Amino acid sequence: MAVTIARRSYRAVLSALVVVSSALAFAWAGWAGLENLRAQRNLAQLEELSGQLLQRAELAIDYAVITLGDYTAPSNDLCNIDALRALRQQTFIRGAIKDIAVLAPDGQLMCSTAPVQFDLLTSGSARVPEYESRNASIVLQPSHTEGSGLFRVLWRIGGTHSIAATLNIDMLMFDIFPAQLRDEALAEIRIGPQDVVARFGDVASTAPNETARAFSATSDRYPVSVALATSEGSLRNWNPWPLAPVLAIGATAGAIIGLLAAQTFMRPPSPVDALRSAIRRGELVPYYQPIFELATSRIVGCEVLVRWRRRDGELVFPDRFIPIAEASGLIVPMTERLVAQALTEMAPLLFDRPDFKIAFNIDPAHFAQPGFLEALDQIVAQAGSSKSCIVLELTERSAFPDMKQAVAVTIEARKRGYRISLDDTGAGHNGLGHIQDLSPDIIKIDKKFVDVAGTAEAADAIIEVLVKLGQRMGAVMVAEGIETEDQRAALAIAGVAQGQGYLVSRPVPLAAFRALIRDHELLAQVTTRDPQMA
Ligand code: C2E
Ligand code: CA
Ligand code: CA
Repeated sequence: MAVTIARRSYRAVLSALVVVSSALAFAWAGWAGLENLRAQRNLAQLEELSGQLLQRAELAIDYAVITLGDYTAPSNDLCNIDALRALRQQTFIRGAIKDIAVLAPDGQLMCSTAPVQFDLLTSGSARVPEYESRNASIVLQPSHTEGSGLFRVLWRIGGTHSIAATLNIDMLMFDIFPAQLRDEALAEIRIGPQDVVARFGDVASTAPNETARAFSATSDRYPVSVALATSEGSLRNWNPWPLAPVLAIGATAGAIIGLLAAQTFMRPPSPVDALRSAIRRGELVPYYQPIFELATSRIVGCEVLVRWRRRDGELVFPDRFIPIAEASGLIVPMTERLVAQALTEMAPLLFDRPDFKIAFNIDPAHFAQPGFLEALDQIVAQAGSSKSCIVLELTERSAFPDMKQAVAVTIEARKRGYRISLDDTGAGHNGLGHIQDLSPDIIKIDKKFVDVAGTAEAADAIIEVLVKLGQRMGAVMVAEGIETEDQRAALAIAGVAQGQGYLVSRPVPLAAFRALIRDHELLAQVTTRDPQMA
C-alpha cells in the first residue's frame, strides 16, 4: 500500500515536472523565436530605409536637373537681367535649390542668383572635385565643408559654359528614422566615393565591445550613395514584442503539450507491459519450499514458487500476476527463465544429492504447446542438470485444452526422463479418470483436504481413496499445505509419504533454502547417532 502510494506520488511529481518544464521551454523557445524574427525584421527595415534615403537624394538631384534643363540652350544668354530674374524665381519657388549660377568652362562664376556666394562656390584655391553621372554632362560637386548639406548639380553645356544648382539636402534626413532609433542612429549622404555632404544623427549608444551595423545603397544614375548605421544594441531593442502576452501564450501552449505528454508517457504501464519488463529485467525470481518425508521430516525435494521482486523491494505473490502471465502468453518466457535460473543456482545442491527433486509449476496450456519439451531439454542441458531430478507439476484445477495431446506429451516427457506430478488433486472437477489417464509419478493432495485431515470424515475418505489409487499406480503421494503436527501425523497414518507446508518452511529464497537443508541434514546426522534427540 505504502509502496503504491509512493509510486503514485512519484508519478504525480514527475508529471508536474514535465508540465512545468515544458511550459518554461515553450515560453523560452517562443520568446527566442520571436526575438530572432524581430532581429531579422529590424535588419530588413533598416535596409529598406537606406533605399528610401537614396531615393530621396536621387529625387532631389532629378529635381535640380529638371530645373536646369529649361536653361541649357547654348544660345541663351543667362547673365542678362531678365534671364537672371527668371532663374531667381526658380530658386524662390523650389525650396531645395538655394542658388542657380552660370559658370565658365574653367569653373569661374559668370553670374548667380544669390547675392552672397555659398562656401562651395567661393573656395578660391582648392578645386572642388567633380563626379560625373551616367549622363556625362551632369556632374555633382560636394561642398568643401563636410556635412554642410550643400552640394552642386552642374550641367555642362557644350564647351561654352555650365549651369549649376546648389542644393541643400539636410531636410531629407530629419524624418528618415523611426522615433525609437532617432537618437541612436546615423545617416549619411555621400557624393563620389567618400565626400559626406549630409549627416544626421549619431551612433551614440555603441558600447565599447559592441559593433555597429551599417547599411548602404548606391545610385546607378548619379555618383551618390547613402549609409545608415546603428548599434547592435539599438537594433535589438527596436520594435520590442509585448513581453507578457508572448510569454503567457508560450507558457500556456507548453503547459498543454506538457500535460498531454505527461498523460501519454506517465500513464502507468498496463499490467502486461509491466510484467513483460519485469521478466526482461529479471525481477521474477524463484523461491523454494521444501518437500519432506512425513515419517522422518527428511527434505527430499522442493517446489519452485515464483515471486516478483520489484525494484523498490516490494514482493509480489503469484496470485497477482500468474493469471495475467497465462492470459497474455508471458507465462512461456517467464517459466523458461525461472527454470533456467533455478536449475543454475541449485546446481551445486543437486550435484551433491542425486535423488533430490525440484518441482516446477507448468501451465497446462504451455505444457501442451508444440516444442515445449524441446525447449525444456535445451534449458536443462544448458544448466547441466539431470532430467530425472526435475518434476513438472500440472494443476488439476484447469482443464487441459486437449486431453489426448496432454497424455501424449506426458508420456513423451516421462520417456525423456522427467517426472510428472498432478497438482491440487481433488480440487478440480476432472474426476479420478483424469488421474489414471495422465498416470503421474506424483500425486499432490490439495490443501483443502489437508486442512481438515484427521478431523473431517469426508476429507479422510477422499485422502484414503487417493492413497489407494496412488499405491495402485505406483505414484508417490504428497500432501500440500501442512501447517500443524496433527495434520502431519494424520496424513502419515493415512499412508501419505511426503508433505509440504509451513510446518517445515514457507517458500524462501536460495540462501535461506540452503541454510534450511544444511540444518536439517545436521540434525538428521545427530539423531542417527543419538536416537533420543529425535
Ligand atoms: P501451488 O502450486 O498450489 O503452490 C502452493 C501454494 O501454497 C504456494 O503459494 C505456497 O506458498 C502455498 N503454501 C505452501 N504451504 C503452505 C501452508 O502450509 N499454508 C498455506 N496457507 N499455504 C501454503 P504461492 O507461492 O502463493 O503460489 C500460489 C500459486 O501460484 C501456486 O499454487 C501455483 O498455482 C502458482 N504458481 C506459483 N509459482 C508458479 C510458477 O512458477 N508457475 C506457474 N505456472 N504457477 C505458479
Ligand atoms: Ca504446485
Ligand atoms: Ca498445489
